[in-house]
Amino acid sequence: MNTIDQQPSAQPPQDLTGLQQTEPAHVAAGFKAVSNAIKHVFGAMNVARGTKILLTLNQKGGVDCPSCAWPDPDGERSSVAEYCENGAKAIAEEATTLKTGPVFFQRYSIQELSEKSDYWLGQQGRLTHPMIVREGETHYHKIEWDEALDLIAEHLNALPTPDDAIFYTSGRTSNEAAFLYQLFARQLGTNNLPDCSNMCHESSGSALGEQLGLGKGSVTLEDFNHAQVIMILGQNPGTNHPRMLTALEEAKKNGAKIVSVNPLIEAGLLAFKHPQHLSDMLGSGTKLSDHYLQIKINSDIALIKALLLLLVKKEATIGNVFDHDFIKNNTLGFEEFLADLSQYKLEDLVKECGISLEQIEEVADLLANSQRIIACWAMGLTQHKNSVVTIQELVNLLLLKGSIGKQGAGTCPVRGHSNVQGDRTMGIFERPSKAFLQK
Ligand code: SF4
Repeated sequence: MNTIDQQPSAQPPQDLTGLQQTEPAHVAAGFKAVSNAIKHVFGAMNVARGTKILLTLNQKGGVDCPSCAWPDPDGERSSVAEYCENGAKAIAEEATTLKTGPVFFQRYSIQELSEKSDYWLGQQGRLTHPMIVREGETHYHKIEWDEALDLIAEHLNALPTPDDAIFYTSGRTSNEAAFLYQLFARQLGTNNLPDCSNMCHESSGSALGEQLGLGKGSVTLEDFNHAQVIMILGQNPGTNHPRMLTALEEAKKNGAKIVSVNPLIEAGLLAFKHPQHLSDMLGSGTKLSDHYLQIKINSDIALIKALLLLLVKKEATIGNVFDHDFIKNNTLGFEEFLADLSQYKLEDLVKECGISLEQIEEVADLLANSQRIIACWAMGLTQHKNSVVTIQELVNLLLLKGSIGKQGAGTCPVRGHSNVQGDRTMGIFERPSKAFLQK
């Protein structure tokens, strides 16, 4: 029997074996999303309670979805359902009445729990007591609150320096809890406050902070209704931010063109059946991507440089491609940028992307004739060693077009956890500003 200090074998959790392979879907949401949402919510609570909770989800004065960070409309919200399938699943798990107490942990050893999937563990319910496992033990067992807090204090006080402690939190923590937590850590004397931002969009924060002086997205949800082009790089909104599909559908209705850049063909980038639009549900849904660039993994920077080279060529031949007023009045380093770009050969970049020159030229034509461009991205862009320069090259494209700081245009790094941005604002950050610390 494995004890706490012997790592469990890396076997796929029992309930993830025997998976069936099916044809990939070509449209996201639709009836399947509705039935899944119903199954999860009413599987976790009775109809009356489930309906009451769903009617408050993402409503003004209601509760904010604890799942992803896609924003709620500032204006009118759907009174029927202002949430997606993931939101329903997340609130079902959040509102569960199931409990995991000492009896549960007597039944399952750490070895056995380590063989369970995250999904199964999440379905077991809420922790009712502080639980502890000491060196050499095989099971967690109950510890009283006071004893638990004393133990934490004993270990923290025994540390050589406060910086020998780390205080991790996820982006699902509320602002209030996050603010108190950072106060506690800083009272102890450390800024060691990493969170999931350090993993998901740290490269975005670094790239944007350095280049624009704003480490966050510059667009609002409303901007999607005014964009001419929406570029989506390294992101799968159908799975990670499903209500983004509503914004994309609206944008399409307003004439926007969508350019998806992804090594995989994702249903949520192909088409969307809005569960509250009968025409979608009975028809084939709304086609989303106008251009789907299935490039090689991490060749985004090659693609963007190829687009930039084509735009420079168009500027030289037909003119009026770049927003020269914006470049002159709001940017630095334009000449150095052109000099650096001129070192690259288009054919090498196209080869690196693994798609045809024709596909890239079509998108370059689209960008050349557009002024209101929104660039969205997620982990497919941020989780590479060269992510910072890739994101900055993407921002270069927006700057050339003057496509930032105005309606329908700008940067949109789409974050994962629901309150990841709130937490940073509350001080969950290992590099807080002097101003924040003084306050
Ligand atoms: S899009 Fe994200 S925040 Fe909105 S309901 Fe779905 S999971 Fe929740």
